[in-house]
Amino acid sequence: MKNLLFILLFIVMENTVSAQFSQDPLPYAFDALEPSIDKTTMEIHYGRHHKAYADNLNKAVAGTPQEKLSLLDLQKSVTAQTPPAIRNNGGGVWNHNFFFNGLAPNAGGEPKGALGEAITATWGSFTQFKEEFKKASLGRFGSGWVWLSVAGGKLVIQSTPNQDNPLMPVSEVKGTPVLSLDVWEHAYYLKYQNKRADYTDSFWNVVNWNLANELYGKALK
Ligand code: MN
Repeated sequence: MKNLLFILLFIVMENTVSAQFSQDPLPYAFDALEPSIDKTTMEIHYGRHHKAYADNLNKAVAGTPQEKLSLLDLQKSVTAQTPPAIRNNGGGVWNHNFFFNGLAPNAGGEPKGALGEAITATWGSFTQFKEEFKKASLGRFGSGWVWLSVAGGKLVIQSTPNQDNPLMPVSEVKGTPVLSLDVWEHAYYLKYQNKRADYTDSFWNVVNWNLANELYGKALK
């Protein structure tokens, strides 16, 4: 009886903790991206880092006007005046939802469809595009992100520091992301150690081009 009461109390407490902002469910198993991205990295990245951004965001927005925004609108509301805890954790939640959805098992290879054509038209070839993307990855000092975005109707490779993203008015680069790469060390260090270039090369084995194509089509509208 006492145990049952504890269980009931636990359930009630779990449900009274406000959790407006949440992680998207991971659309594949932790080991599904092996060997490009290893199981342990995925478990820690999704289960601890991403979760911490969501938990900390919910704490940071409690009682603020941002509490009522959608996660997407929260990104679009970030200015220099936004409290750092909301900017960083809000970006952390959205960026990781976007990144993890942008990966898939049995994916990668060459981009097809309209996005594939636009990449070739913009950079000359997929190979050249990957070179430029890698430059942006290696050129990001410290922690941050690389993005393939649509800006002004054109494809661009962009990079942001920390958990900023191109949707934020405060960001130096602005656009609508269609693809992203997390270049924080926590995203690759267990398997690749300091070799961010190798991690970036492996990324192309697990890119969800179908989703990127869909997002590209929407971004042009
Ligand atoms: Mn990360």
